[in-house]
Amino acid sequence: MHDLIIIGAGPAGLTAGLYAGRYRLDTLILEKMAAGGQIILSSAIENFPGFPGGISTQELIDRFKRQVEELGINIETEEVLAISTSNKSDITIFNIKTKGKSYETRGIIIATGAQHKQLGAKGEDKFIGRGVSYCAACDGPLFRNKDVVVIGGGDRAMEEAIFLSGYAKAVYLVHRRAELRASKILVEKAKQIPKINFILGNIVQEIQGEGRVEQVLLKNVSTNSQQEISCQGVFVFVGIRPNTAFLKNFLEMDEEGFIITDQDMQSSKGGIFACGDCRKKSLYQVITACGEGAVAADSVHKYLLNQ
Ligand code: NAP
Repeated sequence: MHDLIIIGAGPAGLTAGLYAGRYRLDTLILEKMAAGGQIILSSAIENFPGFPGGISTQELIDRFKRQVEELGINIETEEVLAISTSNKSDITIFNIKTKGKSYETRGIIIATGAQHKQLGAKGEDKFIGRGVSYCAACDGPLFRNKDVVVIGGGDRAMEEAIFLSGYAKAVYLVHRRAELRASKILVEKAKQIPKINFILGNIVQEIQGEGRVEQVLLKNVSTNSQQEISCQGVFVFVGIRPNTAFLKNFLEMDEEGFIITDQDMQSSKGGIFACGDCRKKSLYQVITACGEGAVAADSVHKYLLNQ
């Protein structure tokens, strides 16, 4: 029987682990893949306080992980499939089921994060791994001196276009509107790089090629005119969806599956808290994920004291 099981070892889950460990809660972290979460799909992070000039995301995650492990907290590689509840002498016990194991705990923090959305354009599925990618840090080096299209107008599209410009011959940033929602500082930085060409007000009609990506067919949303961009890579950054399917009909969520919590990270079920990108909120950043992880651990601590 654990005091706390944290599901997910990204920035939110690892920070929750750090705080829970310092409260001396008997804590276990379950992570379905490697620790790090979505952030390790980016190469570096520039807006995490304390690291002027930025820090590599892998190094930041390694530091988070070391700090948690120093407190004796284990991270097990297990994918959680379901959670159920029972009562023992008026105390709520949660049972967590993974593929081969089951765990008992008195408190849970959900920190399962989110994953990239697909664009939904014709040809996208067909060319995944053959030119279509959702991870510039993983696949960028494969496109040295090649032409790539980046799709999206948010922070990730901007950050990754800048990263890819370090390898590619040309980067075409395609966005469906004339306005970019990315932070101004990133837009300014991208606009200073001559290799990055902005194609705004265009949607992708089809990703085309013989065996591998060869071109992207675009349509201008104002004029309906079409243009083809010859390219070898297409990087899609059109937002995120939460990793919460296993909690459907168990916790309250919005229509997209983001978990609803109060300001103490309490979900709709007592004893279950949620933090980070799996939670409905207004700012999806590493720093907010960490802050929420700290609050969630503090809330579990108070919850357990009151049990
Ligand atoms: P985002 O901010 O939600 O931006 C998604 C972009 O994709 C928007 O520009 C959107 O267009 C466009 N889009 C959505 N669906 C589309 C479709 N079907 N076809 C064409 N375009 C489409 O998502 P993101 O940039 O992937 O980033 C995900 C989250 O992580 C964001 O909240 C972001 O702030 C955060 N993030 C944090 C950090 C950090 O902590 N340092 C770094 C990177 C990202 P519209 O603008 O027209 O809606």
